Amino acid sequence: MKARAINLAKNIGIILAVGIAYYIFFRLTRIGIKCPFNQITGFLCPGCGLSRMLLALIDLNIPLAIYYNAAAFFLLPFWVAVFISYYYEYIKYGTVKMRMWYKAVLVLTFVVLIVFGIARNLTHLGLHYSNNEDFEFSRIITNWRYI
Ligand SMILES: [Zn+2]
Repeated sequence: MKARAINLAKNIGIILAVGIAYYIFFRLTRIGIKCPFNQITGFLCPGCGLSRMLLALIDLNIPLAIYYNAAAFFLLPFWVAVFISYYYEYIKYGTVKMRMWYKAVLVLTFVVLIVFGIARNLTHLGLHYSNNEDFEFSRIITNWRYI
C-alpha cells in the first residue's frame, strides 16, 4: 500500500513538475503549444483552449476559464472525482473495479465533447473566437474582475 502511494506521488510529482515548467515557460515567453487540428483546419477541436483555461484557473479567473473551454471547465470536477476515487481504491487494494459511475463519466465526457466540439465551431453561436477577440475578451473579463 505504501509503495503504491509513493509510486503514485512520484508520477503526480513528475506531471506537476512538467506542468509548472510549462507554466513558467509560457508566462516568460508567451509561447504556447498550438493545436495541430486548429493550425491545419482553422476549426477549434474540443480540447482547444484547455491550457489557457488552466492558466485562467490558476489566476482564479473563472469567467475567462469558462470562456476558453467551457466543456472542460464543467467536466473537470467529474474527472477529479474519478481520479481521486480510482487512485484511492488502487492505493488501498492494489486493484480497481471499473465502477458504473466511471463509465457514466466517460460517456458524459464523450457526448459533451462531441456536442461542444461541433457547437463551438458554429460561428453564429459566438463560441468561435479569433486571437484578437480572445485578447479583447480577456481584457474585458480582467477589468470586470476589478469592478
Ligand atoms: Zn485543438
